[in-house]
Amino acid sequence: MDWKPNEDELEMTKNELEGLPPNGVWATPNNHAEYRRDGDDNRLILIRRLDHPAVEEAHRRITLAGSMVGWEVVETEETELIPAWHPSPEDAMLEERKRKQESLMTATCANAECDAYISAMDLENAKWTHIEDTTYFDEEKGVEEAIEIWSPIVDCYLCDTSIPLAPEHYLILVGDDLASILKLSSGRTYTVLKREEVIAMVDERELEGLHILGTFCPYSNEAIPPHYRGLMVKSIMIGEEE
Ligand SMILES: [Zn+2]
Repeated sequence: MDWKPNEDELEMTKNELEGLPPNGVWATPNNHAEYRRDGDDNRLILIRRLDHPAVEEAHRRITLAGSMVGWEVVETEETELIPAWHPSPEDAMLEERKRKQESLMTATCANAECDAYISAMDLENAKWTHIEDTTYFDEEKGVEEAIEIWSPIVDCYLCDTSIPLAPEHYLILVGDDLASILKLSSGRTYTVLKREEVIAMVDERELEGLHILGTFCPYSNEAIPPHYRGLMVKSIMIGEEE
């Protein structure tokens, strides 16, 4: 208890608190602690604060200064302590993906009258479809670049509506394993290989079925979606095991 507010600080605290409307919210400048005036009483209730020693100290000082100008500052059972924990970028991305996944799990059919869940549809057989071509401005190179817009389309099992999904949503919904499989309408299936799988195939001289994808399927001339191009894949024809 070494810190004591000076006259100016007391004056400022008094003015700020008395300027609060009934039930008005007041926060420290960085929003690390948030208070609410208790009705029109000279009482501040700590709603939430960051669980950090510096914020705890700030709260102690506000309590002391408040008491010196006739204000009671209290914590209640409902005071929320927010963990002072900053996720790493990787954790934050995982969290974000989890949140997205949760909201995608409850997304329903594009037909407003149908409440079939998209997550329950035959995502495995979604058909990657070239929707349109557009351009975007590449700021680094300072030029317009052409870009193909593709979308995996699934058919609703209840109402048969064709639903074009956002590729990033589709990838989250199906998970990495399914996302690495490309099924063409000709019945040919390409499975993206991991580096170690490629190395093993090459070492064992089992090169049959090993392909590098370009812009079209060499068997059926069907276009390959951009994100599969340049990848090493294993090619299988349905009904032709290996
Ligand atoms: Zn539907």
